[in-house]
Amino acid sequence: MAYKEISAGGVVYRREAGQLQVQLITDRYGKISFAKGKQEQGETIEQTALREIWEETGVKGVIKEPIDIIAYTYQHPEHGEVDKEVHYYLVECQDGELKPQIEEIRGVAWYEPKEAWEKQLHSGYDNNDFILEKGLKLLGFQL
Ligand code: ATP
Repeated sequence: MAYKEISAGGVVYRREAGQLQVQLITDRYGKISFAKGKQEQGETIEQTALREIWEETGVKGVIKEPIDIIAYTYQHPEHGEVDKEVHYYLVECQDGELKPQIEEIRGVAWYEPKEAWEKQLHSGYDNNDFILEKGLKLLGFQL
């Protein structure tokens, strides 16, 4: 039986002087992605998403709605093949200054929608394309 991992995170957004911006992180593998992390015991999956966003990026968010769940497998040095699921939410930034947790991620920044989309296409994981696209669509932004 493959080892199973469940993580949660989100497309975090804010409106800065009327301009929509979304958060992207550079993960520890050098790829563009969203803040996320593993579910801990006793936590709901929504709590996981908000805790991980807070820990990794310094942002206090609120969940607006679910976006979707992606699944992939990867090779872990100890566990072997891992079957992973990541639950993504649309999350509004309420408060906080961007402050990357450098043990977990390489960086975090805000981007306007078009710029975020270009970065995602260029340096992101393919299965996150739909997540960003749907997140932006739910915010009323058509790419
Ligand atoms: P977390 O605790 O945030 O869930 P992690 O670093 O333990 O993160 P992943 O981010 O899933 O685990 O990374 C494990 C492997 O999977 C790495 O090789 C990474 O490049 C790859 N990976 C990360 N995100 C994706 C994705 N969306 N699609 C495919 N592979 C991914």
